[in-house]
Amino acid sequence: MKSVSVLGATGSIGDSTLAIIRKHPDKFKVHSLSAHKNAEKTIALAKEFQPAVVAVTDQDSYQQVKSALNSVPTEVLAGAEALTHIVAEPAVDMVVAGIVGNAGMASVLATVKAGKTLLLANKESIVAAGALVMAEAQKTNASIIPLDSEHNAIYQCLDNDYVVGKRPASVKNITLTASGGPFWQTEQADFAHITPAQAVAHPKWDMGAKISVDSATLMNKGLEVIEAHWLFNMPNEDINVMVHPQSIIHSMVHFVDGSVLAQLGMPDMQVPISYGLGLGNRISNDADFLDLLAVGTLNFVQPDTNKFKCLQLARDAITLGGTAPAVLNAANEVTVAAFLQQQIRFDQIAAFNDKMLNQMTIQNVESMAQLVQLDEEVRSKTAELIKK
Ligand code: NDP
Ligand code: MG
Repeated sequence: MKSVSVLGATGSIGDSTLAIIRKHPDKFKVHSLSAHKNAEKTIALAKEFQPAVVAVTDQDSYQQVKSALNSVPTEVLAGAEALTHIVAEPAVDMVVAGIVGNAGMASVLATVKAGKTLLLANKESIVAAGALVMAEAQKTNASIIPLDSEHNAIYQCLDNDYVVGKRPASVKNITLTASGGPFWQTEQADFAHITPAQAVAHPKWDMGAKISVDSATLMNKGLEVIEAHWLFNMPNEDINVMVHPQSIIHSMVHFVDGSVLAQLGMPDMQVPISYGLGLGNRISNDADFLDLLAVGTLNFVQPDTNKFKCLQLARDAITLGGTAPAVLNAANEVTVAAFLQQQIRFDQIAAFNDKMLNQMTIQNVESMAQLVQLDEEVRSKTAELIKK
């Protein structure tokens, strides 16, 4: 029986994780849940899973959850600090990092610091704080299991060759597949007219709003290149990206002997999450089974980085090193939110991200406090730039 802390329990990753846990009451117990604003869903989940602790980071929602759970034994904690506290609890075996954005950074580092098993969906934390998280994982021997479907696919292909933050000698290079999002065939000239509703309507995956927009700009693939760079300790040039519109092959590893191993499946996050929760053992879930005859054809196309500048910006950030990925990531969180609120156009996401990456002075990554401060600075500067 594993005791699991589910951070971001009210989101899309939270839904998929809890669906698997619900199916296997003999294998998993929810130790804790975290949520930000969705009080109603948090209350329902707390009543269903009866965790020891619930953390609510938004103050108003905390008050609502606290009073609704008054008569049950679940402890209700408030604020972002609660997250770093609950992941380090002795009773926790594994932590599902399903918070969106940099808000998940401190709890990811705290999980690794506490030597717990980290099931990582929150890619932004590894993008911004990869240097700190990987160094800490080496110290504490914490295992990091990627849930992001591409990295989970590579993790599955590597099997026993996977060691956190180490490049296996057997690997020549890796290929991350990308669905291409809703606009890979759209003319660049039409990018200015794309609406938030069109951008969040992903053709293959059902996800939260932020990552859906990231998929539409290919920033998601850029963030994933940076994520792979840290998790598998590989340089830019050994991380290929291919558009594969069917989203059936979730990524592949090219080995030194010429063999290529790929992981296939329906585009459903329950597949990678169940492999993570099972710690490499296969457990059942509610995802549909893949029928390759029904799919028929698998296509592969080179991504156009002139059209999708965000992918190139992410590669530039790796080359720049230090705080560059953190800068790009923070700027992107602001530009995506501004696009969703119809303050900027779709094509301006890449343009503002580019400006911010090139305007900020890049430093070495030294501490979480430095990254938190940098995050605030980039956020306010990006917001200023948008206002202008
Ligand atoms: P959602 O928007 O669906 O969910 C986000 C979760 O984070 C919610 O529980 C939300 O709480 C919580 N949250 C939001 N803001 C804050 C904050 N400031 N502090 C603390 N918690 C907060 O996102 P997804 O589930 O789609 O994505 C989560 C992460 O997983 C992202 O990093 C994404 O890139 C990654 N990922 C997601 C995939 C997917 O299929 N969805 C696939 C691969 C990676 P509330 O709703 O209560 O406000
Ligand atoms: Mg992914």
